[in-house]
Amino acid sequence: MHDRYDLVVIGAGGGGYPAALRIARTGQSVLMVDEKGNLGGNCLYEGCVPSKAVRHATQIWRELNRAAIFGLQAEPLAARWDQIRGYKDGVQSRRYAQHMEEIQSTEHLTMVRGRARFLDANRLVVEDWDRSETVTVKAKTILIATGSQAIPLTFEGAEHTWDHHDLFQWQTSQTVLPKELIVLGGGYIGVEVASMLWDIGVRVTVIEMESTILGHMDPDLRAAVSDHLRQRIHLVTGVKIEKLEVKDQGVLLTGHRLDDGHALVWTADQVLAAVGRGPAIAEDLGLDAAGVAYNARGIGVDGQMHTSVPHIYAAGDVTGLSMLFHAAVRMSEIAADAILLGDDAKEAFHPEEMATTVFSRPEAFSVGLTRDQASERGIQVHEYVREMGGEAWAQIAEELDGFVKLVVHRQTGVILGMHGVGVDAAQLSNVAHMMVRLGLKPADLAHMTFAHPTQFEVLDRLARSV
Ligand SMILES: Cc1cc2nc3c(=O)[nH]c(=O)nc-3n(C[C@H](O)[C@H](O)[C@H](O)COP(=O)(O)OP(=O)(O)OC[C@H]3O[C@@H](n4cnc5c(N)ncnc54)[C@H](O)[C@@H]3O)c2cc1C
Repeated sequence: MHDRYDLVVIGAGGGGYPAALRIARTGQSVLMVDEKGNLGGNCLYEGCVPSKAVRHATQIWRELNRAAIFGLQAEPLAARWDQIRGYKDGVQSRRYAQHMEEIQSTEHLTMVRGRARFLDANRLVVEDWDRSETVTVKAKTILIATGSQAIPLTFEGAEHTWDHHDLFQWQTSQTVLPKELIVLGGGYIGVEVASMLWDIGVRVTVIEMESTILGHMDPDLRAAVSDHLRQRIHLVTGVKIEKLEVKDQGVLLTGHRLDDGHALVWTADQVLAAVGRGPAIAEDLGLDAAGVAYNARGIGVDGQMHTSVPHIYAAGDVTGLSMLFHAAVRMSEIAADAILLGDDAKEAFHPEEMATTVFSRPEAFSVGLTRDQASERGIQVHEYVREMGGEAWAQIAEELDGFVKLVVHRQTGVILGMHGVGVDAAQLSNVAHMMVRLGLKPADLAHMTFAHPTQFEVLDRLARSV
């Protein structure tokens, strides 16, 4: 490690590494510091990738269990968590090896496994855990991409809950699954975990404090997901938990209904917390010493990811703008543009263009505004809906429930939002992102023809029906 760099990047997740690699490839000296010593951040270590690997395995298991519908006879098989874990770890290991090659083949990039903290706006103290050295480094430009962390629960006994580390962390996740699990939190992570674990035989209850799960999504969409989940999962909403007690046979959870104060008790083998995430702005990061403005929602940035200090940028979950991997990557790319092009950098980050996906059964996605969000902004909209069950893909897959919805500006005719639920719906979010980002109209979509038989056909048919 040297004591001077053109750019120091703190955190090597989606918010950090795209900018670091791109800027190093222009010949600038870049130091990237991350506790994991490799690329991918929490997404690869214990988030998106391992959770979707487990979900993929549970989906195959479910298909095997209904093989007879498709004219197949499956041998008696078993869903073995230890082997699913092994497969998940393998997916993560493969990606880590690929990322290590990227690091090694990028000239002008120094990757350090360790921690960084600000001394002031230009200097950082960097601990290198592999070389057991601590160096004070001066940087012309700094990118903060420290990500997010689970919001800690405060009720008595909360320290006994599991979280996503226990299920998905690389090589160290739990070896035995509970038979009966309570998931606290009905956001997308809680819903995904509940759905996938039920599919491999875990009895699941989801407890959400708000009156609905997936609260930020379109009301029809969350009703559809809730109705589906209720067929197999016990969904409890509007409840606050007060206490967790560990008993010989598992846990005892107590709480009360928020509307009438009625006391409630649940028992289970284990409780998993998924109540949301907050920006990783630990006190020892030294944001105050650097003069970087932040609040509990995250580090404040403008459209080009500048913080309150002109040569310090922030990208990813730590900004609180959109806590998704692809959004972090976009922010990182925009920060790289701003660092390389200065005032000529034109692109700005628009969180509402980012796709939110829920990989539950059924899948759901949301891009842009819902009708309610449009009306909060004083925008009048039309909504157009098409059921998925009429399309060949849904019929082939024997998954007939679901719909896609367009939210269209009444005056301009521009598509402001697209939302959907049903078979393979998460894939549709990519087309939705393009429509909303490019400001297209239903007529533009109506002139496209998606391949038959795929789940995308529902989109051009919906547009032609408008
Ligand atoms: C269970 C789960 C499932 C998810 N599924 C999806 C999904 O399907 N799709 C999706 O888009 N998103 C998903 N996410 C969200 C996604 O993981 C995050 O949005 C993404 O990781 C954000 O990237 P980031 O670079 O901002 O932060 P992170 O990936 O959190 O990376 C930040 C890195 O910085 C390091 N760091 C922090 N402080 C310091 C410091 N002082 N010094 C050095 N290093 C430091 C951390 O160790 C970490 O490696 C999921 C998250 C979870 C928890």
